[in-house]
Amino acid sequence: MLTGIHVAFIGGDARQLEVVKRCIQLDATVTLIGFDNLESNFTGATKRPLTCDVLKDADALILPIVGTDDNGFVESIFCSKQLQLQVEHIACLKKHCVVYTGMAKPYLRTLTSAEQISLVELLDRDDVAIYNSIPTAEGALMMAIQHTDITIHGSQSIVLGLGRTGLSMARVLHALGARVRVGARRQEHLARIYEMGLTPFHISEIRQQVTNADFIFNTIPSLVLTAEVIAQMPQTAFILDLASKPGGTDFRYAQRRGIKALLAPGLPGIVAPKSAGQILAQTLSRLIAEQTISRGNQHG
Ligand code: NAP
Repeated sequence: MLTGIHVAFIGGDARQLEVVKRCIQLDATVTLIGFDNLESNFTGATKRPLTCDVLKDADALILPIVGTDDNGFVESIFCSKQLQLQVEHIACLKKHCVVYTGMAKPYLRTLTSAEQISLVELLDRDDVAIYNSIPTAEGALMMAIQHTDITIHGSQSIVLGLGRTGLSMARVLHALGARVRVGARRQEHLARIYEMGLTPFHISEIRQQVTNADFIFNTIPSLVLTAEVIAQMPQTAFILDLASKPGGTDFRYAQRRGIKALLAPGLPGIVAPKSAGQILAQTLSRLIAEQTISRGNQHG
């Protein structure tokens, strides 16, 4: 339970509502900042403006998955006013208050470290990234189906990277009957791909591998689908780049060659906001409870 814990939310999207619901259910005191246009009124949560007076009592401050932009602006689909998180807002937090976000920009990291406030980036955590790979892989399948005229079953599908997203992607493609090849650079990853009944290749062989590809799903966050690689692909190939911006594809060259290539960021929030929100809610409520226990132990 989070009885006696004050959790403040600034902005967000449908995913945040799942976290709000969970915090209320666990008996936290919940303050919503930047939710002015939210139609359903949560019983047990109070809407307030972004002021130091509101923030000074918070034990946990929850920002949206993307945190702030480079200038401190926080997005909220529930508010038409601009929300800018400034140094005074972080300075007025209690020293034990923890700021949670998905991924922090340097702006937020600098602000919190200057004020010695702990910052937790949820998407850095293995558990969150693995749970998130479920809606990501489903969203990638949806896009592959929408943008091509062939079935995934029987297709020549390539997954680049066997990290948390790549593994789930390879698994769902295999389950749908695709002929799946996975490119990785670590020997243990190549061994795992083989163990899964898929075809491994070293990433250095990518040029030879793409010559008959129908689908290429990239999860490697660096330029792997270069012009030289794309030049080897059939014109009918479809590239779906799942890696964080700017992705790992030379999109300019793909367009020049007439190959369809899309960057698809933020799929969990797009295809399954409720599930993606529940993933965050589960982890956040546990972390906030742990934060409280460890504070209690320090004082006790
Ligand atoms: P991850 O677990 O770190 O996996 C990334 C993989 O890329 C690792 O296996 C890594 O291999 C490999 N890699 C990195 N640089 C490489 C290189 N130069 N050559 C070959 N392999 C390389 O990360 P993740 O959680 O799967 O996420 C992957 C990307 O997808 C990230 O950019 C993440 O932000 C993004 N993402 C997007 C969505 C979406 O909705 N589109 C959702 C979730 C995540 P090593 O282990 O050998 O380093």
